[in-house]
Amino acid sequence: AAKSAGRATFAFYEASLNSAAVERLHLESALRHALERGEIEVYFQPKVDASGRACSVEALSRWVGSEFGAVSPATFIPIAEEVGLIEPITEFVLRTACSQAAQWHRAGFGPLAVAVNLSPRLFRSGAFVAQVALALADYGLPAECLELEITEGTLMDKGVDALEQLQGLKALGVRLAVDDFGTGYSSLAYLARFPLDILKIDKAFVSRATEGTREAILSRAVVTLGRDLGMRVVAEGVETEAQRELFASAGCHEFQGYLFARPLSASSADAWLAANTAAVPAAAPIAQSM
Ligand code: C2E
Ligand code: MG
Ligand code: MG
Ligand code: MG
Repeated sequence: AAKSAGRATFAFYEASLNSAAVERLHLESALRHALERGEIEVYFQPKVDASGRACSVEALSRWVGSEFGAVSPATFIPIAEEVGLIEPITEFVLRTACSQAAQWHRAGFGPLAVAVNLSPRLFRSGAFVAQVALALADYGLPAECLELEITEGTLMDKGVDALEQLQGLKALGVRLAVDDFGTGYSSLAYLARFPLDILKIDKAFVSRATEGTREAILSRAVVTLGRDLGMRVVAEGVETEAQRELFASAGCHEFQGYLFARPLSASSADAWLAANTAAVPAAAPIAQSM
């Protein structure tokens, strides 16, 4: 009986493995056409300073396909990385973000920065620094208004000389952020070795940091560490006023999370920024008279 049960389990396992593999193949081939079909969109999630004013906006990609509907970037970005689509997707996100930020500057929402997420793979070809320089030039965005968010995966990738490329990016004047700090294998050595300007504390860590917990103690220490290294420190995934207060009292510079705003479409971000930046838009809409 045990033997046949084992076989049945195995057959079931194999069948579910196959359907997962088939699903994955379908996703992959749909993703190959997503860009040309205009199914990839860029959303923008604000980061605010201690006074609640927007200081930067993170570009987050969204895929809404005809077959699969909305697919999370947590699902499609790793596929894009594996099958060589991350380069064109990042190029699209980068150029959309630069164009949008330049538009916001012209509208008077300056000095607002825009942040783009990078995958480790992008550093393999050695062409990325030139692509960034070109995007900045094409849209006339000052380099200091572009932030590039990298995870430790980028810093760890043995196959590439991340340091050389990060130095190339720094030479352009862009700012480098280490994303998702505090989870995974975050190493203090990275903070010493690489020219990083911004430290983003991961939301998984932020959500556990309530007053009186060990995470709260570690959070204060991480904020102090970042500040002492001369970095700007950002808490990501802030959902409650208590979390905002804890990180603010620790000396955190910027906050991002649903408490302030979700990732927004470009037009919703426009409206949000109009309400949350100090500057008055230079080109005010023509008032309806009479
Ligand atoms: P990330 O860069 O760490 O971005 C933060 C994620 O947390 C985003 O998820 C954001 O929507 C979510 N988030 C923000 N505030 C809150 C909050 O208060 N509560 C909760 N529960 N979540 C919050 P999203 O947009 O689904 O993106 C997931 C990840 O996918 C990103 O994590 C990033 O690693 C990756 N990703 C997204 N777009 C791109 C892209 O264009 N290129 C690359 N390479 N990766 C991307
Ligand atoms: Mg990010
Ligand atoms: Mg993050
Ligand atoms: Mg994260």
